[in-house]
Order: sequence, then C-alpha cells, then structure tokens
Amino acid sequence: MRKRLAVIDREVCKPTICNHLCKRVCPVNRSGEDCITISSEDNKPNIDESLCIGCGICVSRCPTNAIAVINLPAELKENPVYRYGMNQFELYRLPVPKNRMVVGMIGQNGVGKSTAIKILSKKLKPNLGILDKDIPLSEVMEMFRGSELQNYFTRLEKGDVKVAYKPQNVDDIPKMWSGRVSDLFKKMNRGEGLQELRKILRLEGMLDKDVKTLSGGELQLLAVTATMLKDADLYFFDEPSSYLDVEQRLRVAAAIRRLSKHHMVMVVEHDLAVADYLADQVHMLYGKPAVFGIISKPDGVRVGINTYLEGFIREENMRFRDESIIFSKSAATTMKTRHFMDFPHFTKKFERFSLQTEAGNIYKGEVVGILGPNATGKSTFINILTGNVKPDSGEPPGDLRLAYKPQKIELEDDDKELTVRLYLSKEMKDKSMKQRIIHMLDLERLMEKKLDSLSGGEVQSVMIAATLGKPFDILLLDEPTAFLDVEQRLRASKLIREVVENKEAAAFVVDHDLQILDSISDRLMLFEGERGVHGHAWAPSEAKECMNAFLKKIGITFRRDPQTGRARANKPGSQKDSEQKGKDRYFYVE
Ligand code: SF4
Repeated sequence: MRKRLAVIDREVCKPTICNHLCKRVCPVNRSGEDCITISSEDNKPNIDESLCIGCGICVSRCPTNAIAVINLPAELKENPVYRYGMNQFELYRLPVPKNRMVVGMIGQNGVGKSTAIKILSKKLKPNLGILDKDIPLSEVMEMFRGSELQNYFTRLEKGDVKVAYKPQNVDDIPKMWSGRVSDLFKKMNRGEGLQELRKILRLEGMLDKDVKTLSGGELQLLAVTATMLKDADLYFFDEPSSYLDVEQRLRVAAAIRRLSKHHMVMVVEHDLAVADYLADQVHMLYGKPAVFGIISKPDGVRVGINTYLEGFIREENMRFRDESIIFSKSAATTMKTRHFMDFPHFTKKFERFSLQTEAGNIYKGEVVGILGPNATGKSTFINILTGNVKPDSGEPPGDLRLAYKPQKIELEDDDKELTVRLYLSKEMKDKSMKQRIIHMLDLERLMEKKLDSLSGGEVQSVMIAATLGKPFDILLLDEPTAFLDVEQRLRASKLIREVVENKEAAAFVVDHDLQILDSISDRLMLFEGERGVHGHAWAPSEAKECMNAFLKKIGITFRRDPQTGRARANKPGSQKDSEQKGKDRYFYVE
C-alpha cells in the first residue's frame, strides 16, 4: 500500500488563531475516529497517518499553512533511513562516500542534505523511521547489507572515519573567528598543505586581512581552505562556489579534485557547470522540502545531471518533476529596442582600488547580466548607480527609482523577529505582481516563519521577492542565485525577466552562474582588471560575444550538452577544448 505522510510544522502551527480547526474539519474525526488528536505537551495537533485518508481538507483549511499531507511515490519500496519524530521530516536512502572520488549531490534544498551529512558523520543514528524503540545497529547494518554503505558504517562505528565539513553559510564566519587570516591558517596547518593551497586558490591577497573585513568570496575561500587543512577521511563541502567568481569556482573545483586523490569527498553544488566539472558521480536529491527527501542511487556525472534535469529516473521508474528542464540558447526572446536610459563614463578611486566604467545604455524591459572576476568593481558600479557611492566623475541617473538587493544579506535587527508575511507586506509596496512573485518563489509555505529562522536559500528568495515588489525603474540584483538550488535559480530567473518586462523597467544582474547568466541576460556587461587593485567595465554588448571574450581571458571553453542545452566545461587540452580554441569560440560551437 502506498504510504501516506503527514507533516506538521510546529513552529508555524498557531492554535490560538484557529482553535484546532484541522481537528474540527477532518472527516475521519467527524466520523468518530481519532485521526487528529491534540498533544497535551504543546496543545498542537498530531495526525495518525494510518487513519488519515489523504483528503487534504486540513491542509487547505489550515490558516498558517502548517500541515502537509502527501502520498509517497508508489515506486519507493524501502523504509526510510531517518525520521525526526511523529509528523516530522523523513529521509529515504543515503549518499555513498567513495574512496578517491568526488561524489556530488545535486537537487532541491530542504530535502535531507543536512540529515544525510549528520548521519554520515555519526551525529545522528539512523532510526529507520521507527520512533517508539531504539534501533540496534545490527538492524541498521542489515538495511545496508551488501552495499558500500555497510563498509562505511562499519568503519564509522570503529571510529575509523573523521569528517571535515564546510558549511553552506559562510556569512557567519566573522561571528566565530577573529584575527588575521594567515594566523588562523597557521593554527590549523598540519604541514605542507597550506603552501599548496595558497598557490592553487590564489590566497595571497587575503592573508593579511582581518576576518571581519573579508568579502563573501574571501570568506568562502577561507572556509574551503580551513576545511581542506583539517585531518579527515571524509571531506564534505556544502555549496563551495557561492560568492566565488567563475575562475575561483574552477580553482576550488581543482583543489577539491586534488583532495579526492587520497580521500573521500562529497560536494553539494547547485551551479551545474561546476558540479559537472568537479564530480565523478552524482546523487540526485528530490522530494518535498521540509516533508520528505529521497536520495537517488549514484550515476555518472553527465548522465546524473541530465537525468535530474529530465525529472525522470528510468531505472527506478520514478518521475519527480512533471516537466523536463531544457536550457534554450538564451531566454532573451525578443530584441529590446526601446531606449530607456543612458549612463555616463564613471571613475572612482578608493585608497587601494580604482574603477573606470564605459558609458552605456539600457533598453526598456532589458536584463543586462554583469560578468567578471570578484573585486573588479561590479558592486561598486551598482552602488554608484544606486547613489550609495559617489563617483569622482560621471553623474548617476538622477530621478529613477531603484530597487537593490546586495550580495551579502544582513538583516536589520528590527526585521529578524518579523514573520515573512509581515516583512513582505512592509517591503512589497508595489502590489501589482505580489501574488505572482510569492508563488513563483514558493514562499507561501514560509509565510508564518520568522526571518531569522530561515535557511540561506530561503532568505535569498525572500529578499528577491522584497526587491521585485518595490516600485522601481532600475532593478539591481547582486548575486541573486547564491544559496538557491537549481530549480529555484531557474524560477527566479524567469520571474526577474517577467517582472522587468511587465514593469517596462530595466535590470542589472550580477552573477557567476554562467548557465543562469546565459539564460537571463539580453546583453552582458564585462568587468576586467586586477582583483582588489583596479577594474574596468565595458559597455553592455551582445551576450555571446561578451561571454566569449570573458572565457577567452580565463582560458576555459564551454560546449552545449546536446540533450539538455546546458553549458559543460571542456577538460583543458581535450579535443573539444582545442577545437573550440582554434575557432576562437570559447562559449559553444553551435
Ligand atoms: Fe484528516 Fe488526513 Fe483529511 Fe487531514 S488529510 S483532514 S488528517 S483525513
């Protein structure tokens, strides 16, 4: 029989608002059985999954969206690996760490990545979904008998596996660590490791800096390096590319691959081009966020990513998404021609950094992607346009309304305690597309949560919504895809284009996910220069030529996957790489 799951978010369940409406409307309760009962501990409902008929009435009537009732896919035959408690999240299957391999995890946020990491590092013991008794280890081992996980758990039990973990959120590092970066590394270093990493990751420019002054990208490099310097058997990197530019992403990928020559390495990565470049195998993560998660069996990296995009796992006959994701050559459907704004040549000199930007223009409804290395002035350019930074020469556009989402999101103290609903009603002053924005970013389920309880991806989605919901002529988004999963990135990109076209406004979007930039941009604006010393920005120009010029500078070629249209980095020196370089086509040969 197909298994039914009922999950209640006890943080957002508010019986004071509804007086246990779910219990009163449940048809099973109305017929005299106790499907929904009220807990004497917290005065909130419990749902008996064996009595629930899955009618969904409580789900639709709950005023705070606290209840989810779903039927698990019939194809899922096995028991869960872990359940947190009655009416709580459930995880099926685990990823398999492998010696001398990079095992990637791609897919949705909120479907069990953290639970899997906790189990593989012995912080959680699998309970096989059984909540009323302690499950002996022998039973857990029986579940994994004959698989590579059996060996792994045997080693884990013997205390034979040390795990090093790079967390997703690097913004919190300055709250935990202080002092000079080089001093921190010295304390962690076990020997020659640091010298090598200094070269591969080009850490020189940040070694003398104080942790408090580091940019998002530098914090990421600090976290990756610190993790690699640990003495461990399994290294786990949770989104190692957020805040890094394209070149840095590929350098980190190279360092991770190097680490895998002698260790087990697992990586969660939402930039598909990077995941493709660094992983040997991938597991797909799917399910329903905060309700249940399934981890697929491992696949080769190309097949695994393509299967994920297709949304259908043939071997398991499992469809987990109704439609396939196919990347078109560009989302820019119609050439924008209606003039909207000119901006002049800007210059700005700081004590240690100078920026020059060419004069340019932008059309109505146009999205201009901004591409280039970190610390070459992209955020400064945006800040000049917003009026937050005064240029030495050039007048920023005066009377245009701007909406701006910065790269690093720092919540105001007054906002931290607000629910998403209250925050968005305060920020989204333009109501015209409010419901569409909330729906596309899948924020309905977060409405009663407090802002400071959200994950990195959830905060990002809320901030995108808040920015898109302001009245604006010019939209400036700095790294909107950081911490979003693949599907969220695609939905957010589509939405940004839709809102900008609908409002007949214009947008500048800084991002380092090449696939997303390719999909979202009508034209691109290229930044060049020496990181932290000087930057130069060209006027917006044709996307393909700009991407080509950028990749030529860093010496990497990309081809298009014939099945899904996604960008795949060519291995340096491969036949494709040489062929494309010979034709001077660094971004796709059609
Ligand atoms: Fe009752 Fe289940 Fe229907 Fe909810 S979904 S009202 S718990 S039968």
